[in-house]
Amino acid sequence: MARTADHGGGVRSLRVPIPDNPLGYTLVYVVDTDRGPVLVDTGWDDPASWDALTEGLAACGTSAAEIHGVVVTHHHPDHHGLSGRVRETSGAWIALHAADTAIVRRTRETRPERWSTYMADKLAAAGAPEEHLAPLRAPRARGRGSLPGLSPALPDREIVPGELLDLPGRRLRAVWTPGHTPGHVCLHLEEEHPAGLPGHGRLFSGDHLLPKITPHIGLYEDPDEVTVTDPLGDYLDSLERVGRLAPAEVLPAHQHTFTDAPGRVRQLLAHHEDRLTGLLALLTAPLTPWRLAERMEWNRPWEQISYGSRHIAVAEAEAHLRRLVKLGRAEAVAGSDPVAYVAV
Ligand SMILES: [Zn+2]
Ligand SMILES: [Zn+2]
Repeated sequence: MARTADHGGGVRSLRVPIPDNPLGYTLVYVVDTDRGPVLVDTGWDDPASWDALTEGLAACGTSAAEIHGVVVTHHHPDHHGLSGRVRETSGAWIALHAADTAIVRRTRETRPERWSTYMADKLAAAGAPEEHLAPLRAPRARGRGSLPGLSPALPDREIVPGELLDLPGRRLRAVWTPGHTPGHVCLHLEEEHPAGLPGHGRLFSGDHLLPKITPHIGLYEDPDEVTVTDPLGDYLDSLERVGRLAPAEVLPAHQHTFTDAPGRVRQLLAHHEDRLTGLLALLTAPLTPWRLAERMEWNRPWEQISYGSRHIAVAEAEAHLRRLVKLGRAEAVAGSDPVAYVAV
């Protein structure tokens, strides 16, 4: 059963399911151009998801073989997963921001053992207990710390921030919105809203701006990271950037379309400010990132958070700690090992 929607002005969407994921589906957008349809994201690489994509394209009056190009908001497998298969079927180009292309290249080249070692070292430095690290350090831990979709497609084109994409007959401008990933982009359709809603065009927001949930902000997982990045700081800056665009409508990659982007941005900025304040209250005594994650508020008690989800939770705690350190509101305790942080 194809679930498609017509958003007017030559833009449609279809739902591509994400297997075993509470998010349910990715919204793939089909944008008509003078050279044929262009997709914004493609969905998870899975046979059922591919069927949903091809059925959805048929319901939109086209097919995978007719796709002219694929614009990918970020490298995550629920967005970029099927890009390679679309390219094989149609000869379409694939465009991605350079920072996420670097991650795709690394994912293709890094052996699973390297990921396990990297994850184990990183979690040890964050204060993870030995029983959590043991499975990662076991010789048979192949793939335990690896990323899903080990061979994502290498793109053929680079999405350059601030520039129009080469889409004949359309004005689609790339807006760099790092935070959720280092190369996440939103795409601003600089055309009047088809129903005349007030505001400036429409924004394909990927995972950056969603109507009801906040995207995961962790660390930019890079075994070779040399500089200390600040993904949460990047994300908050990126939120302000899309708020200032004031699009008439937001077309996100999950959930549903919505208006009042500046209002949603204000909510998210307030949410993160509250969260940082809450963490400071926990940091009156020194805590490692792991201990902080155990005490933070999640959608379920820590004991019920799965093994893999604890990695995500700790990354989120670390992203918040980096922000607090950068703001001068927390600091590392000198000589602590694993490093502990305290409010200042
Ligand atoms: Zn994502
Ligand atoms: Zn997503």
